Amino acid sequence: MLKGIAASSGIAICKALVINEAEVAIEKRDEVDVEQELKSFSKALENSKEEVRRLKEITLKKLGQGKAEIFEAHLMMLEDPELITGIEDKIKTEGFNAEYAVKITVDMFITIFEGMANDYMRERAADIKDIGKRLVYNLLGLKLRTLSALEENYIVVAKDLSPSETVQMDHEKVLGFATDIGGRTSHSAIMARSLDIPAVVGLGNITALVKDGDTLIIDGDIGAVYINPQSDLIAVYKKKQEMARLEKQELQALLKAETITLDGRRVELAGNIGTPDNVSGVLKNGGEGVGLFRTEFLYMDKEQMPSEEEQFQAYKRVLEEMQNKPVVIRTLDIGGDKKLPYLPIKEELNPFLGYRAIRICLKQRDIFRAQVRALLRASIYGNLKIMFPMIATLEELREAKAFVEEMKQELSLEKVAYSNDVELGIMIEIPSAAIISDVLAKEVDFFSIGTNDLIQYTVAVDRMNENVSYLYSSYNPAVLRLIKTVIDNAHKEGKWVGMCGEMAGDVKLAPVLLGFGLDEFSMSASSILKVRSVIRGIEFRRAKVIAEDVLKMGTAEEIEGYLSSI
Ligand code: PEP
Ligand code: MG
Repeated sequence: MLKGIAASSGIAICKALVINEAEVAIEKRDEVDVEQELKSFSKALENSKEEVRRLKEITLKKLGQGKAEIFEAHLMMLEDPELITGIEDKIKTEGFNAEYAVKITVDMFITIFEGMANDYMRERAADIKDIGKRLVYNLLGLKLRTLSALEENYIVVAKDLSPSETVQMDHEKVLGFATDIGGRTSHSAIMARSLDIPAVVGLGNITALVKDGDTLIIDGDIGAVYINPQSDLIAVYKKKQEMARLEKQELQALLKAETITLDGRRVELAGNIGTPDNVSGVLKNGGEGVGLFRTEFLYMDKEQMPSEEEQFQAYKRVLEEMQNKPVVIRTLDIGGDKKLPYLPIKEELNPFLGYRAIRICLKQRDIFRAQVRALLRASIYGNLKIMFPMIATLEELREAKAFVEEMKQELSLEKVAYSNDVELGIMIEIPSAAIISDVLAKEVDFFSIGTNDLIQYTVAVDRMNENVSYLYSSYNPAVLRLIKTVIDNAHKEGKWVGMCGEMAGDVKLAPVLLGFGLDEFSMSASSILKVRSVIRGIEFRRAKVIAEDVLKMGTAEEIEGYLSSI
């Protein structure tokens, strides 16, 4: 079993097609007929453009305008005079053979783009690499591997997959893919999610360990790949796959259904996202809003802080795509296990209890300033709610709110538009905040309960520590009582309460949380319809009784057992 990054959920069982494309060796030739090389280049250029145009068409049909833009960009690059005359000049003045001229010129552009501060531009280096490869293959009369016309079903195993390769795949025949490199936000992972193909990336050296024809199981939910598994494991996974398929099919009927109990209590089901690209998954799964945008993902894997403008674009996109549905964007929650390469934090004995999240933002105001300004500027494009993470005291809440006010005044002076209806809320994920939630409730618009951290701080159990993981339970009675207190305290002040920790997507706990009076449940997109199904199948009255029963119980085991039996 190999463990990688769960890039796209689902299960695939199939034989492997290993794509181990050797790098094409490009040599500088000595005897070169300049005219001939120019002619070859011109022909290769035309062929490449034709191929990209075709890809653009296919993508437009299969995935829509947004994804087709990648190839629009490729086409523009193939028509860019700087690149094209750059290559032609190398042939004319230096006497380079065409493929060598392409390589030298393309490499130079890649270096320039990779060195750019702007993230978007840096990512374009991958696109230049892609078109460089296409030009060289056309020059050498090679065919870029087509995954578009496969005879049989396969799981594709590759070092990495470029955007064009992923889109070209015959989606009927490619049942999943596994790659050596890549992260959740690499192009191939993004594509896999939008195509709903199970995928695991960042596996290290799977291309070296798997041969063509080996049987693989891909578990895109936990990021695991099994190579030549025993027949009993295959049987287990086949069963899981079938059950998942049936469940998914049935759940589709609830896509547009209201999230309402049998006796008429309505709640909101929202999705958690890490990047603007995740919005489509939320909508596709019937999400009624975004309950948590973990903005730190915009900051991670970068060489420097994202600018106000970059953030503004990201927030605006999410708000626009959600079309006035509620969107809760959380301000930077860095520290603990999440680090930024360009923001050095002194080594700490207990980083989870240390300098993190709102504590950093209130101290390093320049970081906070860029984010709050970007959020306010974006607020006119939808239904934005701003949320502060890791609030432990009333003073912190007041400081954060005052800072937002200050930024509003700054923008007003600059005559920059923002909405005056932006709700301000906090995460309740530290026990001190839960305990004083009655006073906090008076000064916020909403709460969102962050159970991932609330459990760790309430039970004093490091959420990353395997040795004490038996203590880390969503069914812990102390945690459940705290949650009930928080909801009651908010409701007394007429404020709404959501939950964005993993617990919100737990179908066993849904009746309890519903019975507690939770107003909004925010979870990974794939759980939304399952929770909707539970809520539509129960009476609020009954959920309240279940919740009361649970509050009388003393152990997590008892509670879990009881909930499994109902
Ligand atoms: C939480 O703590 O429950 C939460 C949603 O935030 P994160 O998992 O990002 O800490
Ligand atoms: Mg948290």
